[in-house]
Parts: sequence; C-alpha cells; structure tokens
Amino acid sequence: NPRPGRRPEWLKIHLNTGDNFRELKKLMRGNTLHTVCEEARCPNIYECWANRTATFMILGNICTRACRFCAVTSGLPTELDLEEPGRVAESVEHMGLRHVVVTSVARDDLADGGASIFAATIRAIRERVPLCSVEVLIPDFMGNWDALQVVMDAEPDILNHNIETVRRLSDKVRSKAKYDRSLELLRRAKEMKPHIPTKSSIMIGVGETWEEILQTMDDLRAVDCDIMTIGQYLQPTRKHLPVSRYWTPEEFAALKEEGMKRGFKHVESGPLVRSSYHAHEQVEKAGTQ
Ligand code: SF4
Ligand code: SF4
Repeated sequence: NPRPGRRPEWLKIHLNTGDNFRELKKLMRGNTLHTVCEEARCPNIYECWANRTATFMILGNICTRACRFCAVTSGLPTELDLEEPGRVAESVEHMGLRHVVVTSVARDDLADGGASIFAATIRAIRERVPLCSVEVLIPDFMGNWDALQVVMDAEPDILNHNIETVRRLSDKVRSKAKYDRSLELLRRAKEMKPHIPTKSSIMIGVGETWEEILQTMDDLRAVDCDIMTIGQYLQPTRKHLPVSRYWTPEEFAALKEEGMKRGFKHVESGPLVRSSYHAHEQVEKAGTQ
C-alpha cells in the first residue's frame, strides 16, 4: 500500500472540460450563488456539472461545529436569509439542473437547526423546476426529530445524512455528532416517509479497519438505509486530521460488492467518490423517478 503522505496515481485528476461544463460555467458567471462544487474545489466538478448535477450550500458558510476533517470555517454563523430558497431555485433553473443536492453547515444556533429553510428550498425548487430531483444532505439537528419531520414533509427525492466514519472513530473525527444519533436520524426518516430513499456516506482513510467498515454497512442496513457512498479522505490542510492510509481502487470495488451483498439499492465506492457524486444515477437506481 502507498504510504500516507504521498498521493497515489489514482487520486490524480484528469480534467475533462466538456461542452456542458463550459456552458454552465458561463451561466454561473455573474451569478452570486455559491456551490460546494466550486468552494470545496471538488475534483468531480467537470463530470457532475456536465451531467447537470450540482450541490448548493444554504444557511451561510460558517459552521457552529468543527469536525477534524472538514475545511468549512467554524464560528458564529451569519444571520438567516429568508430569500435564499428562492435564489437557489432560480439558480437551479438557470443552470438547467436535473438533480440538485442541497446541504448546509450545522446551525446549532437555530432552534430548528435550519430545517424550515431546507423545507422551503425543496418546495421552491419543486415549484420552479418540477423535473429536477432534489436531494437534501442534512445535519443531525441535534436530535430534534420535529425538525426532521419538517424536512421529510417537504418530500425530498433523497434524504441524505452522513455517518462519516466508523463507530470507534466517531468522537475523534466528528464534532458533536454521534454515531448512534445519526443512525437514529436515518431510522426515523425512513419511518416518517418509507417511500423516500435514505442515503449515508463515509470517508475512509482516517484509521478504520476493514472489519469496522463492514460493521458500519451492517449498522446502516439495520436502519434500512438504501444508498451508501464511500470515498477516500483527503486532508484539506496540514491542521486537519492526517490520512491514515490510501485504500486502493480494488479495495473500493470490493467494498461496493460487500455493500450490494448486504442489500443496499446502490453503493458508490471509489477513491474520488463524494457524497453527491453520481447523485443523479443514485436517485434513478433507488427507483424514485
Ligand atoms: Fe459538486 Fe458533489 Fe459533484 Fe463534487 S461530487 S462536483 S460537490 S455535486
Ligand atoms: Fe464541516 Fe459539517 Fe462538521 Fe460543520 S458539521 S464542521 S460543515 S462536517
């Protein structure tokens, strides 16, 4: 296995700026809205945008938490922007998206954690661009299940909540989030709306073992999670958690098989896979369209 510290060949990105991508770039120019794709410098941006998929971050860009793997700034969040759902919907229309992922920082300062803005954003996109599927990637709302209900009642096409890592490393890697609370969120989401597919992701390479990854799959299946994505953790800056190892493409492929054996409807597993990677295909395979 390649030693940590040197990025293996399979993590080098081959840029492919197709026509669709250039067209979208043009549309984004002069638009004040921000996508996670651009701000996180996601390696998949060309492919995703060419496939008319993008991820928007709502509720500001300052997080009340400070997870050790995450490059988002921590601190006191900005005020609430009630016009935001409408602006996101407008951008989805301008970009001609077929699938949109809406996510946010953790807003533990808000009573509902921002759930009502998530719901308003889902509804605004539905109204403006009925053919675009909407996936929400939500924080845990500190276990406020009424807030979760507000999001579920807006009927997203996919309810996504990341468990991020295996049980043993959860407290070390995540800030405030709890392994069991994340499982409970996924279980309750499924109970509230059984027809809405649920999805969760982990990043590997933070110190977990093979057995622990399989256990996390079992835990997710035990709460009837439908879709799982697995990607390689990459250290955003030297201050962040170091990479423990680079799992090989063959190992990622073997994990996909393990996941499918366990009954997930779809598993996306690969070094460059991110939570929203190939999200449009995932929604199709989960049978909501
Ligand atoms: Fe954007 Fe997600 Fe695709 Fe990255 S994987 S480009 S964040 S939609
Ligand atoms: Fe980053 Fe989310 Fe953790 Fe905030 S809660 S630091 S946005 S991973």
